[in-house]
Amino acid sequence: MSQERLFSKTYASGDIVFSQGDEGDCAYIIETGRVEVFVVDREVETPITTLGPGEIFGEMAVIDVGKRSASVRALEDAKLTVVYREQLYSRIRESDAIVRLLISVLLKRMRSSLAVESDFNSLDLLLSSGSGENLQEIQQKAVENLRLERDIMEAIEAEHFVLNYQPIVNLHTGKLGGYEALVRWNHPTRGRVRPDMFLGLAEETSLIVPIGLWVMRQACEDLAKIQKECDHEIFMSINISGRQMMVSSFFDDLMGIVKDTGVKPQNVKLEITERILVEGSLAVDWINRCRELGFLVALDDFGTGYSSLSYLSEFDIDNLKIDQAFIRKVTEDHKSRVLVEVLALMARGLKLSTIAEGIEEKDQLQICQELNIDYIQGYFYGKPEPYEDAIRHLNADFER
Ligand code: C2E
Ligand code: CA
Ligand code: CA
Repeated sequence: MSQERLFSKTYASGDIVFSQGDEGDCAYIIETGRVEVFVVDREVETPITTLGPGEIFGEMAVIDVGKRSASVRALEDAKLTVVYREQLYSRIRESDAIVRLLISVLLKRMRSSLAVESDFNSLDLLLSSGSGENLQEIQQKAVENLRLERDIMEAIEAEHFVLNYQPIVNLHTGKLGGYEALVRWNHPTRGRVRPDMFLGLAEETSLIVPIGLWVMRQACEDLAKIQKECDHEIFMSINISGRQMMVSSFFDDLMGIVKDTGVKPQNVKLEITERILVEGSLAVDWINRCRELGFLVALDDFGTGYSSLSYLSEFDIDNLKIDQAFIRKVTEDHKSRVLVEVLALMARGLKLSTIAEGIEEKDQLQICQELNIDYIQGYFYGKPEPYEDAIRHLNADFER
């Protein structure tokens, strides 16, 4: 008969929960009552400790060594919550590679100090992410990420980050509408590191916060300089990550930068991605605060994230950036064209201006014109370039 799995168990005073040497596949959390942990050597019992509500026991057998190293008896009537091995395993597997690496080091140490023989398969199983990686790959990745993290921290100190600026053209006037600031990392040995190679880790480790702060300051300083040379007002688009948005000093920092550099908030456009909007009321508050302070808000990579459109009525934003993925196929694929058309129509109905990203060819531009899209960004008009090169677009008349 297969044994039924229970998620809580009760024991009467004096009952044995498990005995030394038993196979163990679960740990216990004490809900009520007390238990005694003891070892037996040549029929002599030696108490180790007494545990009460909220405490956990039996975890060693679950994490690693299969056999119970001590016995446990209820000292009074006790109610226990059972924690099975898979519940722990799945949590450990979901954790950061560095945490998994540390656990593996600790387990190996524990085994050698207890002189426990154990098959390494359980360690592998425990530490692999379920994606078929082995222990060595996990360790390698963890160490690489730590090095990358160290490099990012050094780069922040050494100011090895630079901004490139990509022109965004106003299709109605044929003039420059503004620039998007895109971060680049000039690494002394890794070379030019693309943002997608380090922003993910920076986001995970919160290093995006100091990087983002530097980006905001640099972009606003440059906007102030550029604006002086330009015959009309332009905006600066700055990407803001989810982690950065949640920093409590975000608006104080930004207002400090605006004050120091003398740029107008209405010329600073904060680009956030759709994904952030699932934060619900937090995102609403954040966007409302932007409005109060006079900043513009653009919804980046529109159409790629979450499919619910209901939030568009809740969030008070200025621009929708139609993602490159739609634009790329807009000339040859009828479905992409229909999608861009619908997005443009919807944006107009909601009184949001539209920016099409990733325009590389004239045909794509023509479709955007037919669809009355307001702004164009893409290699057709200019790649992201260092400040000195990007400013040549300032007073240009762009081909339409
Ligand atoms: P994004 O915000 O969607 O930025 C647009 C990306 O599309 C840029 O890639 C840009 O170089 C690229 N692009 C622009 N026009 C074209 C085109 O015509 N064809 C093609 N194939 N690509 C084009 P980039 O600079 O590699 O940036 C990648 C992403 O990294 C950005 O995507 C943004 O999400 C993130 N990022 C860049 N800088 C920052 C930053 O300062 N802070 C934050 N939080 N994220 C940033
Ligand atoms: Ca962007
Ligand atoms: Ca984008």
